[in-house]
Amino acid sequence: ESLPLSQRLLGRIRDVPDFPQEGIVFKDITPLLADPGAFSDLVDALADLAVRQGATAVAGLEARGFILAAPVALKAGLGFVPVRKAGKLPGPTLAQSYALEYGTAEIEVQRDAFAPGSRVLVVDDVLATGGTLEASIRLIRDAGAQVVAVGLLMELGFLGGRDRLHPTLDGVPMEAV
Ligand code: AMP
Repeated sequence: ESLPLSQRLLGRIRDVPDFPQEGIVFKDITPLLADPGAFSDLVDALADLAVRQGATAVAGLEARGFILAAPVALKAGLGFVPVRKAGKLPGPTLAQSYALEYGTAEIEVQRDAFAPGSRVLVVDDVLATGGTLEASIRLIRDAGAQVVAVGLLMELGFLGGRDRLHPTLDGVPMEAV
């Protein structure tokens, strides 16, 4: 209980070697989600970021970003917007493709997801290479909204995601709890 928040939360993440493929150390957040004290501390910290940055909406990245972003949105008194893998959202959508280690991925948001003038907190669990987040930020901007902060549970520093995102963020704060 007396440990700093980030240490308490990071202590609830389980390293799973060689998942989903050999050489990857997967950060499993399910122990944190199963601990209501830790889960709620994480949600509070991200909701505080939303309030500090004057966000008017919270976007979550499929799939684990959804689990965090929805309660963050409610806690901050804001609406939730899903950024989804291609083909899942009905109606007119906007899309962004990005490169994966093998092949490409595509994500979408509904064209009318954000009211004019929206200020968006983007939430995901883990920052790895930054590819997903980079595409998400572009997508949210294409939809006419301003990204005012990025909130994460953790950052895998050795993959260089923060450096890669630096030009895209262009001064927008990105905080890991
Ligand atoms: P990236 O686009 O490389 O930054 O990958 C970010 C997405 O993949 C995030 O949505 C993460 O949830 C997931 N991810 C990537 N690497 C890991 C990892 N080692 N452990 C858990 N999730 C990961």
